Amino acid sequence: MSKFIRASIQKMNGYSWGEQPGKIDNLIKLNTNENAYPASPEVTTALDNLNLEDLRTYPAPLADELRAEIAHIHGISLENIVLTNGGDEGLRLAMTTFVNPGDSFCFAHPSYSLYPVLAHIQDAMICPIPYSDSWEIPNQFASKISSYDAKLTCLVNPHAPSGTLYTVSEISKLADHIPGVLLIDEAYADFVDPELNYQSASLLENHDNILILRSFSKGYSLAGLRLGYLLGSNPLITPILNKTRDSYNVGSIQQKIGIAAITDQDYAQSIWSRIRDNRTHLQKQLNALGLTSPPSQSNFLLAHVNEDFGLTAKKLYQSLKKMDIYVRYFDDTYLKDHLRITVGTQEQNTALINAIEQVLHV
Ligand SMILES: *Cc1c(COP(=O)(O)O)cnc(C)c1O
Repeated sequence: MSKFIRASIQKMNGYSWGEQPGKIDNLIKLNTNENAYPASPEVTTALDNLNLEDLRTYPAPLADELRAEIAHIHGISLENIVLTNGGDEGLRLAMTTFVNPGDSFCFAHPSYSLYPVLAHIQDAMICPIPYSDSWEIPNQFASKISSYDAKLTCLVNPHAPSGTLYTVSEISKLADHIPGVLLIDEAYADFVDPELNYQSASLLENHDNILILRSFSKGYSLAGLRLGYLLGSNPLITPILNKTRDSYNVGSIQQKIGIAAITDQDYAQSIWSRIRDNRTHLQKQLNALGLTSPPSQSNFLLAHVNEDFGLTAKKLYQSLKKMDIYVRYFDDTYLKDHLRITVGTQEQNTALINAIEQVLHV
């Protein structure tokens, strides 16, 4: 132990990544919710058109061109958008901008395991509020958050790892009844069925304490790029988050590729629709094998491995891994009877179902 290191940092555990196995032939990777399909062909073109001169100078500090495209998609103005180096940087910015050391940070538990890590770095008080079995917004959520006087609360929507979607009106009510900032983590919102008409950006008009996080990692198949953004009502975004982010947090390559991906909405929407179709099909097949999951509006399913299934979630995870099929098992009191399975391509999902049948000898 070094005397140079802050006590909170000495004590804390770092983030534990989902397994990222190296290149293995025929490996089926359904464990970290990456998009099953590649990014738009426009991204390939943008990559082909990159040149050294793009890297000689600093990137556009405010990335107006990319922000304009994002503004257009959400029907908001440029001032409501801050780009981040992956959605994760947006979470870190919210933590360092709104939460003093010692202040409370709330989230509905279980959700994204990065949250407590970021809170520990900030020396914040961590206030997880447990979900009930049905994955509704926790009972008395707002009053619990108020009792902790939380300066920041994160809610993943659609929720991870359950896939449950909360409505805009539920979120609006929550924001009205809590003291601090509410960050809605919409890393998976691109996969929501458009018929549900989930449009949270409208909340920014009449709430000054809402931030919305978006990511290019899942919806746009660009997890390796590290690009995300925060939407907020103007007083939260400009100039506050522009003061606390790194001065050049999004490089020129990220900006160019981001523009290529987000302007090809036809392609993106066709991919999201395929994933929704695959999700419906996979859920039915898992269900038929006794692995039920809550209705998911995301690109993953949280399969419940109940006592009658014949083997534990951990055993199923291990057996699948031996067959080079990776799903996510969480060694956590809340989740130990579950596996989180990313919705893959039709071929991947079929291989998964066949493998489970083989494990079960059915
Ligand atoms: C993937 C994810 C993010 C952001 O991921 P980035 O790759 O950093 O953009 C944020 N929240 C949740 C719940 C996620 O699953």
